[in-house]
This record gives sequence, structure tokens and C-alpha cells, in this order.
Amino acid sequence: MPVVEIDRAALIANWRMLDLRNPGVRTGAAVKANGYGLGAAEVTAALWEAGCRDFFVAWAEEGAVLRDSLERLPANASTASAAPRIFVLQGLEPATVLLHLARNLTPVLSTPDDITIWREGLRAAASKTPAAVQLETGMNRLGLTSKDARLAADLAASGELELCLVMSHLASADEPTSQSAEQLERFRALAGLFPSVPRSLANSAGVFLGPDYAFDLTRPGIALYGGEAGPGSSEAIRAVARLTASVLQVRIAKAGEAVGYGAAARLDRDTRIATVGIGYADGYHRAASGAGVGMRQLRPGAEAILAGRRVPVLGRVSMDLTLLDVTALPDDAVQPGARAEFFGPDMPIDAVAQAAGTIAYELLTGLGPRVKRLWSRDDTFS
Ligand SMILES: *Cc1c(COP(=O)(O)O)cnc(C)c1O
Repeated sequence: MPVVEIDRAALIANWRMLDLRNPGVRTGAAVKANGYGLGAAEVTAALWEAGCRDFFVAWAEEGAVLRDSLERLPANASTASAAPRIFVLQGLEPATVLLHLARNLTPVLSTPDDITIWREGLRAAASKTPAAVQLETGMNRLGLTSKDARLAADLAASGELELCLVMSHLASADEPTSQSAEQLERFRALAGLFPSVPRSLANSAGVFLGPDYAFDLTRPGIALYGGEAGPGSSEAIRAVARLTASVLQVRIAKAGEAVGYGAAARLDRDTRIATVGIGYADGYHRAASGAGVGMRQLRPGAEAILAGRRVPVLGRVSMDLTLLDVTALPDDAVQPGARAEFFGPDMPIDAVAQAAGTIAYELLTGLGPRVKRLWSRDDTFS
């Protein structure tokens, strides 16, 4: 079966590295989508141990599950004063107001409706639980427009809306464009409407843009899990997840024969093929398919590590199986049972993502349910 080994020490080291870049600033963690596919409960427990107290999820339901697992941590994790905060990024659905209140989740209000729903919910529950607001600064995804931000600011100023965070999100922090600087300027101006409310702007790539972007709290995600976060970040980030699967069969196919579904091309030389038990149902994208070196090249496809060497994917990735061209390896180097690494410390996840026309985020969050998550307490990869 395919396995993803998760290096707990590397996850913690990445969080510490990000935290150290901005002394005096709180460093949170995006743990949405089941901790980027690796397991939100385990990720959160590890980061809580490292000192992280601010967690970001997309949905209230994710937040409620996370609260349950945080409450199962050692006693001091659940005491009110040290209670970790869980922010729910996607706004407020009326049906989830009570869930927010019951499980101590902080909604991130992004529309005037969100604000109305929240205030009505608080009134009905006679609660003063603070919320966060998100401001639109150039991404046009979620967030209050400047007009709505002014209305929210008036409510905050008159004590009718308790806020614990004002935030926005960077659209292209991982690319060398001027958009981040423009968003920073807009954020400064709009967040200024909420004096004394703590601020947050930076995702992983934002952390690497320097202290101007840090404000009071950063919200890294992908860099924690070993994905690149913009130019120059990869040296600082340790691989966290290693996806492996085992060789089921090794065979030699002759020049002229076809390989895999669709027989997209024919072998132009005798080729040693390793059949490996992983496929797109496990989250190893079909778009990682390659013609392989032994076939008339359609396009390169991804590579994997087998017997310590990089070997190309041959033909089409299927649901449960992927073929690797191991002709370049010594005769006996690959036997059934050997494990191939599809991404990890020896096969950068960003390189695999690029070959498949996607991003590391999608490879991690797309890991299939039958991929066993194997957590290590020690430094597996070093
Ligand atoms: C997902 C997300 C993050 C984390 O982003 P990364 O690029 O993974 O670091 C931060 N803030 C918001 C609003 C998000 O949706």
C-alpha cells in the first residue's frame, strides 16, 4: 500500500524557522483541509507542543473536530487562558453560529451578512465572543470592501462588534510582482480603521517577504508542510512528507511494444519497467504521466526515486498503478518489494507538482484516503 511518512520533527522545525523570522510576532498555522492532507489532529498537536496557539481552518465543522482533538491534549492545552484559538476562514453560515459559540471557534467575517448573522447570534446567546474580520485588498475572493470595512469599523468603535483580529490575504506573495506591496498598502490603510485590533496578513510566502508583512500574527500553511513559499524559501524549508509505494513487478519490454493504458506511444528501445502500487486514486496525479525515456517523447512527466536514483514515469498513471522506467539502473537494483519515493526529501514535491502542472498544495491535500499516514516522532529524514 502507498504510505506517506510524516516527519514530525521537520514540521516543528519549519514552524520554529518561520516563527524565528519575526521575533515578537505570533506565528499561527493553517491546518485546513485536514492539515493539508497529513492529518489535522496530529499536525495541530505537534505545533501546539512547539508553541503555536492560533490555528486556521476553512469550515466550522473542521474547527469543531479540531477543538475536540485539542481538548484531548495534555490538561494545560484546554485551560481557558491557554486555549488555542481556532479561526474559521470561510465566513459564517447561519446554521454554524451555535457551533462557533459551543466550540469556541472564531469566525472570520467577510461580508456585511456575516456581521449581521454573528451579531444576531451573539445577542440571542447573550455572548460577547470576539470575531475576526477579513478585508478585501486586491484578491477579490473573500473580504469586506472598503465601504463595508468602514461600517464594521463604526460598529467596532461603538462597542457593538468585538474584534480580536483584522486580516487580509496575499494573492501572489510567492511571485516577484508588485501586487504584494499594493496589498500591503491597502491593508495598512483599511486596518487603520480598527485601531488597537491585532492584524494579520502573511501566509507562508508573506513571511518570506520580510517584517513589513508580519504585523501581529502570521498564518503559514504550505511551508510548514515542506512546500516552497516563493523565491529563496526552499533552502530554509525541510521536507515533511515522503510518499512511497512498493514495486509489484519488474519486467523487460521489447522495443516496439506498447506500455500502459492508451498505448500512448511505443518503446523505442528495450526497457526495464517497474510496476509500482500507486495511482491517481491515491492522489498521484494522472497529469504526472510521462512518455518516459524509452518512448518517443510526448512530454517529460514526473520522476520518482528508486534504488537511490531518479527514474521517469513511463506511460500513463492509472488508478492504482504507475510504471517507472528503470532501464538506467543496474540489473539487480530493483526487486519487487522495493519502495519508490514519489515525493519527499529526495524528490522535491514542488518538482513533482510542476511536472504534473499543479502545485504542492494540491498534491498534499489530494492524498487519497487509502494512503496510510505514518507519523514519526524522531528525525526520520535527516
Ligand atoms: C490557506 C490560507 C493561508 C495559508 O497559506 P499558505 O500559502 O499555505 O501559507 C493563510 N491565510 C488564508 C486566508 C488562507 O486561506
